[in-house]
Amino acid sequence: MQTEFESLAVKGVQALSPYQPGKPIDELAREFGLDPASIVKLASNENPLGPSPKALSAIEKALADLCRYPDGNGFDLKQALSDRYGIRPEQITLGNGSNDVLEVITRCFAAPGDEVVYSQYAFAVYPLVTQAIGAKGVSVPAREYGHDLQAMADAVTEGAKLVFVANPNNPTGTVHGAAAIESFLERIPERVLVVLDEAYCEYLQGGDDVDGLSLLGRYPNLIVTRTFSKAWGLAALRVGYSVSSPEIANILNRVRQPFNVDSIAMAAATAVLGDEDYLRRSCDVNAKGMAQLVAAFDDMKLAYIPSSGNFISVEVGEYASQINQSLLEQGVIVRPIGGYGLPRHLRVSIGLPEENERFIAALGTAILAATAEAANKAEV
Ligand SMILES: *Cc1c(COP(=O)(O)O)cnc(C)c1O
Repeated sequence: MQTEFESLAVKGVQALSPYQPGKPIDELAREFGLDPASIVKLASNENPLGPSPKALSAIEKALADLCRYPDGNGFDLKQALSDRYGIRPEQITLGNGSNDVLEVITRCFAAPGDEVVYSQYAFAVYPLVTQAIGAKGVSVPAREYGHDLQAMADAVTEGAKLVFVANPNNPTGTVHGAAAIESFLERIPERVLVVLDEAYCEYLQGGDDVDGLSLLGRYPNLIVTRTFSKAWGLAALRVGYSVSSPEIANILNRVRQPFNVDSIAMAAATAVLGDEDYLRRSCDVNAKGMAQLVAAFDDMKLAYIPSSGNFISVEVGEYASQINQSLLEQGVIVRPIGGYGLPRHLRVSIGLPEENERFIAALGTAILAATAEAANKAEV
């Protein structure tokens, strides 16, 4: 008899479905016979500006050392982060994208059967890593699409080891201000670790917005995670990090792979931290694009979830999957979020003005086509 390897996989993994990334441009080009250059991809919250020139020239320099292992301690990058954010290098754990750090944290602090608390509609990686290690996910119902922090604190009981808070959250773009995050942290016992995922923090406008790093001194059970994939424009290179107490960083360091961030990625990330102009342009293009999309949705009478990230989820209704299909046929890739329990919404990343325009026009066409098709079906 043939072995059923599926039955040999550990239980959590058997029940797992892999993370669904945005459709790559080349894949859509192959499927529909489109010219890749004509395709607009607004599906993975990538930076539409292209990479920083400073990152590119750092990469060129780093190429000469391709035969060598990277610096496993990430000295230069940690130093640059430390200078920029006023933290100590011993507080930093580097990861192959912040995804890597999120997974390492979970593996270090949650065992099979332990509870990991997160919000409904929160970033898909939290339930994924939780399930993979056989821990028990506790998904707390959202409030107006955002985290219900009070209910989340209530859900932290005896069995809980870890809480994930995405601020701003993906795919909803919802954010909590400093006061809300602090009252939440006040309620979490010190034996439970809180991961504050700030993948989009660079886009925040100040005001009441929270900077997780400033809370680390007061809450020793806090871990802040950040990434170079979004506002810093280096998604392909996979660099992220966490900032925590040195004690926690020390624990994470035992489990992460010794060379989890490669030298090209570290060189680029170190260089881009010095490109203030790039960051400013990223935020500018994002703010303008967000205004452009919101104005179009208002015109089209489409509801959307107000977003503090570099993306926005718009409610297109019951024909969302037909509308998505029509967008693809028109060479526009966005992200359906039915897998998040939001089957009536599509998430669109903010692009350059002309990309946003392409999306808006294609969305109009797609909605007309989907409603006409539905009306036709109703007649026969
Ligand atoms: C994009 C994103 C990340 C970062 O992913 P990387 O692995 O760093 O590319 C983390 N958290 C959230 C909520 C995100 O949307």
